[in-house]
Amino acid sequence: MKRESVIAKKKFGQNFLKDESVLRKIVEAMPKNDNKVVEIGPGLGDLTKFLVDVKSVEAFEVDTDLCKLLQSEFKKEIVTKRLQLNCGDVLQAWKSSLVDEPYDLVANLPYYIATNIILKALADPMCKNILVMVQLEVAEKFCAVAGEKVFGSLSVITQSIGSSHIVVKVPPTAFDPQPKIDSAVFLIQKSSDRNDEEFENMLRVAFKQPRKTLMKNLSQKYDKTLLLEAFDELELTLTIRPHQLQTHDYHQLNKCLTRVNEIVQ
Ligand code: SAM
Repeated sequence: MKRESVIAKKKFGQNFLKDESVLRKIVEAMPKNDNKVVEIGPGLGDLTKFLVDVKSVEAFEVDTDLCKLLQSEFKKEIVTKRLQLNCGDVLQAWKSSLVDEPYDLVANLPYYIATNIILKALADPMCKNILVMVQLEVAEKFCAVAGEKVFGSLSVITQSIGSSHIVVKVPPTAFDPQPKIDSAVFLIQKSSDRNDEEFENMLRVAFKQPRKTLMKNLSQKYDKTLLLEAFDELELTLTIRPHQLQTHDYHQLNKCLTRVNEIVQ
């Protein structure tokens, strides 16, 4: 198959990035280090071309037609091991780590599984940095700061692990075929890994209904008297909404609720 005859498959979230200035911005934003690059969904290989110029790359592509195309386009890089191409579903290949050496994830992600992939990368001890294109709305959730309306559990999880910021917003015209929504590239620089299940369970309850008060949400799971004690200790008002707390307040709250629960049991 020739690249001109490729028809994008919706079921695999195929929107190919055509704007070379955005491709260059992604490469410029890559953290400077010796880590390998992992690309999920190389597609037609337009970003891959830029990546193999600067780093060793391991790529995962689910579409067998595209995989064949990539195998012929990158014959030389595959022989010299500059590119290791895995054909298949990345989620099937992902055990506790996706690869067995430190890596940075750099990708224009398939949007239908983007949040899942980012959460897996945040938990993966071999993944050090995450530089990805996703839909703008999702990027804003991972990069929000306390007080912003979209500040939620994804923002708190990210801030507990490292720092994040939006690199560039990307309009639908940068892609072929064009998606219906705006996109953005964002960077997470990890300083630890995601591994606190109890904390994340508390966050899920805290942000369940973002417009309600934090107290109302948490009352769905925690005893009211214990909550009142914790709020009093942390000097939180009863009317505070979930997006108004800082990440460190959530850690303090979790400590209080865990401690109080332990005393009760
Ligand atoms: N990197 C290319 C670009 O920037 O033009 C393509 C990006 S396109 C948004 C997403 C890519 O992810 C497609 O090539 C698609 O086939 C691939 N993909 C979708 N689901 C996948 C999965 N579960 N595992 C691996 N690749 C997947």
